[in-house]
Amino acid sequence: MPAAAGFVFCKRFACPLFSNLEINTRKEPFPWGDHRRFHSYGQWFKKTFGGRLQKISVEAGFSCPNRDGSKGRGGCTFCNNEAFHPSYCSSVKTIRQQIAEGIEFHRKRYRRAKGYLVYFQSYSNTYKPVDELERLYREALSVEGVKGIVIGTRPDTINEDILALLADLQQKHFVMIEYGVESIYDQTLQRVNRGHTYAEAVAAIEATARAGLPCGAHFILGLPGESMEMLRQYPDHIAKLPLTTVKFHQLQLFRNTVMAREFQQRPEDFHLFSLGEYVDLLVFIIERLPGSLVIERMAGEVPPRFLVSPLWSMLRYDEVMRLIELELEKRDTWQGKFAGGF
Ligand code: SF4
Repeated sequence: MPAAAGFVFCKRFACPLFSNLEINTRKEPFPWGDHRRFHSYGQWFKKTFGGRLQKISVEAGFSCPNRDGSKGRGGCTFCNNEAFHPSYCSSVKTIRQQIAEGIEFHRKRYRRAKGYLVYFQSYSNTYKPVDELERLYREALSVEGVKGIVIGTRPDTINEDILALLADLQQKHFVMIEYGVESIYDQTLQRVNRGHTYAEAVAAIEATARAGLPCGAHFILGLPGESMEMLRQYPDHIAKLPLTTVKFHQLQLFRNTVMAREFQQRPEDFHLFSLGEYVDLLVFIIERLPGSLVIERMAGEVPPRFLVSPLWSMLRYDEVMRLIELELEKRDTWQGKFAGGF
């Protein structure tokens, strides 16, 4: 792989990805409490739970209003939920069984966690009657070691009854909602057949915050039609939202999707970032996000077999994140530097 322009290179190794270079040489910690140049999920976990928690994904048999016809058919043009499924996830198993297998799966691979967060990830995980939701969420919360749930969903599948249920569960457990917002531009949301507007996403996030629940949002950077100038508007919009966490993914083209077919027919409509461009964009965004906002992810990672045009998306997530952190270090910059306060 050619070296990406503009990166700081480790003095000991030729490759910047696997270096022993200290990421941050500052003596004082940043306002979020450690020396990393952004407010990391790990640091937030440490403050919130006193240690590391492992997320365990489950597939609870949800559908999506953008697929079953109530909002639309065919789904978002980029959607391929298969790409995100860990092998132990399957809706033919009970939630309890998936959690047990997920704990075993992660125990073999990673260092020991203090507990688990069950992640309702695939499709729209608030898209069922409220009594059915309660049964599913309570099943997850009843498993030993589970400290809470994170619920991934669309902004238009939330209502006051569901928020009341989640606020009630939150009395004893950690409960968080994560919305797929994807873009701040309605013309993009329309183009990718998202089936909701940005204003609906803002309304859902604000209602969730009013209910006292921590709230996350997911954005895809580089959707067709969005210029670099448009992408540079993201941090100002995100900074206005009452969010706890944010996730960014570079646009990845998944096999067997409408967007992959569009790319094959009209590649000129797409601008897939070079690694250098993406790192540069992320640094720009990070500098303009308030330090209180936790950045949970900075890039996407899926098995390469799902990708039409893998490019640098074949890099592991840790490697991309390390490049971004090295660039923050090289420029002596940090989250919130241009955001006007913590
Ligand atoms: S991305 Fe989410 S909202 Fe869009 S079709 Fe897929 S499951 Fe539905």
